[in-house]
Amino acid sequence: MENCLFCKIIAGAIPSSKVYEDEKILAFRDIAPQAPIHVLVIPKTHIASVDEITAENSGIVAYIFENIPKIAKLAGIENGYRVISNCGKDACQTVPHLHFHILGGAQLSGQMC
Ligand code: 5GP
Ligand code: ZN
Repeated sequence: MENCLFCKIIAGAIPSSKVYEDEKILAFRDIAPQAPIHVLVIPKTHIASVDEITAENSGIVAYIFENIPKIAKLAGIENGYRVISNCGKDACQTVPHLHFHILGGAQLSGQMC
């Protein structure tokens, strides 16, 4: 996707602080962290949001979750973390490329919104 910010990060056209990368996914630190440790995990294939997950492309979602425990450890998280995916306008999704926020590194709020 030509005009997608995260596709540009995947392509290396925009630099990022990488935590983990393989042939299917990329994990990098959020530019505006909302917790002491804040990492984004994205598929290398462009999927706009959770709304666009189908039986055909859901394998990458399982793959991301298989890798999240390892990515959290690589990022320095030790005592638990929160995984969030904002989907659409009301959830304040700002980048229309599927991503999972991993938040940790401190005691998080008991509230989710
Ligand atoms: P959303 O609001 O769509 O759930 O999350 C998008 C996230 O991408 C935000 O937390 C924002 O700080 C992060 N972000 C936006 N632009 C960049 C960028 O150029 N580099 C990095 N590393 N993160 C970005
Ligand atoms: Zn994209």
